[in-house]
Amino acid sequence: MTFSLHGQAVSGGIAIGRAHLVSHAMLEVAQYQLRERDVAGELIRFDKAVATASAELDALRVDASVPGAPAELSAFVGLHAMILADPALTNGVRELIRERRCNAEWAMVQQMQLVVDQFDEFEDAYLRERKQDIVQVVERVLKVLQGKARKLSRRKAVTADVDLIVVANDLSPADTIQFKSLRIGGFVTDLGGSTSHTAIVARSLAIPAVVGMQHARSLIQDDDLLIVDGTRGVLIVDPDSGVLAEYRLRKTELELERSKLRRLVTSRSRTLDGEDVELHANIELPQDAERAMEVGADGVGLFRTEFLFMNRDELPDEDEQFEAYRSVVKSLGDKPVTIRTLDIGADKNARALRNRAGNRNAPNPALGLRAIRFCLVEPQLFLVQLRAILRASHYGAIRLLIPMLAHAHEIEQTLALIELAKTQLRESRHKFDDRMEVGGMIEIPAAALTLGPFLRRLDFLSIGTNDLIQYTLAIDRTDDSVAHLYEPMHPAVLKLIAQTIQGARRVDMPVAVCGEMAGNPKLTKLLLGMGLRQFSMHPSQLLEVKQQVMMADAAQLAARVAKILKLDEPSRISEQVDKL
Ligand code: PEP
Ligand code: MG
Repeated sequence: MTFSLHGQAVSGGIAIGRAHLVSHAMLEVAQYQLRERDVAGELIRFDKAVATASAELDALRVDASVPGAPAELSAFVGLHAMILADPALTNGVRELIRERRCNAEWAMVQQMQLVVDQFDEFEDAYLRERKQDIVQVVERVLKVLQGKARKLSRRKAVTADVDLIVVANDLSPADTIQFKSLRIGGFVTDLGGSTSHTAIVARSLAIPAVVGMQHARSLIQDDDLLIVDGTRGVLIVDPDSGVLAEYRLRKTELELERSKLRRLVTSRSRTLDGEDVELHANIELPQDAERAMEVGADGVGLFRTEFLFMNRDELPDEDEQFEAYRSVVKSLGDKPVTIRTLDIGADKNARALRNRAGNRNAPNPALGLRAIRFCLVEPQLFLVQLRAILRASHYGAIRLLIPMLAHAHEIEQTLALIELAKTQLRESRHKFDDRMEVGGMIEIPAAALTLGPFLRRLDFLSIGTNDLIQYTLAIDRTDDSVAHLYEPMHPAVLKLIAQTIQGARRVDMPVAVCGEMAGNPKLTKLLLGMGLRQFSMHPSQLLEVKQQVMMADAAQLAARVAKILKLDEPSRISEQVDKL
């Protein structure tokens, strides 16, 4: 039966494919069907893994009983041992291996989902939270299993069918970044906001995505035929042949439009009245630099380095980071690369940082120890990154960008740590560019309202509109229940952006916008009219923005936008912006 669901459109385009229901852990494991004769062996493999995990917990229990060990450690080890011994978890897995011939890892995550879903029903918040412990126990067994797993790569397992559409309750940015190597056609989630990092990663992959669907995961079954309309925020389940034909046509038309845009790759990014406009790329991983070059970006305006820290147990050391940064610089030739220091926290988590201060369960993570705040309380970790970036600066034009600054003393502390990193490198006889520029992100209203220290102490600014909107309007950017209040056209937001651009221009300081507003072609003329001449966005958006630049008259826009900035009704503002 055909039906449709509506959510937030977060990444445009159309995907047509088969549903693939996932949970977090499912993304990490191979899923395949066993041959009948392999079932008995798989059961033994599973039982052995459970025994190993249980022995690991016993060993931990001994450690936890040592005098001085934290009391919570012994409590949590005890709880985990109990969960692992509970047949509710393990018997279900054995049954799935036996009856459905699922491989052990796959059976394990399916059973985990079943148990965890029951926990969601609990009234008691403490008990509901305990589902995290189940996930951790399952992860422990999975790790043992994967250590000895038969070699069947994730890639092969998940991409047997090319048009896979991932359907999930929620996806973390760390989950989504893995799609870069998994060839996913599109995805839909029940939770999430349009500028959550999950949505941002989707746009960087240029795959259609809709979030905040509420009931997709419960209404859709594996292998259902789906159409994801990422532009309108619609999901059609089990479409009839008429609808399917219509969407196939639209998909082809969209692809045609995209290929026409490719003609602009070598065109100069210049307005009708002769103003040059720089268009840079936002990247998450070093390999994205290639896409940036393909679309003719003027440089990398934002390298979100935190993605290098995700989906791994150990932190990347100085040499590994150095190689990653240097590889981007090398791909870019002589074009500038803006490397943002670690912006971990809020919705972006890294399990290798799980036990650090910033990754504890903060009561309000977006307002917690995120980004530069985290780095300043972990100076040793921060210095590793600073040294790696400085060392890479010897090989090309690197600019260092600091996220989430609000206070003058944070700028001072950061600059002092950069000096310290330089001293350490001199002592170890490493080469670096002593004049590497240091810039700050303007993404907290306090920063936009008090630009003085930024203009005096830094070399450039980059406006992060995603967080600037979140903090100005007090709207959690990941929370779908307030997504309707996330309003880039709010006059308060526009004033802060315009004021920052004008403040920087007055003293000839370079200023860019690297938040999602920069990649929205409907807003290009508005930003040009505010005086912006440097944009940074996902490579997939760059040519459409260039097209807008080439059709704009900057002088005329300045006058029209000045009038728009006097309006105080978001709907009136939107109307006028559309007319630009
Ligand atoms: C922003 O906040 O606009 C930004 C570019 O940074 P991020 O989206 O990574 O928080
Ligand atoms: Mg930000």
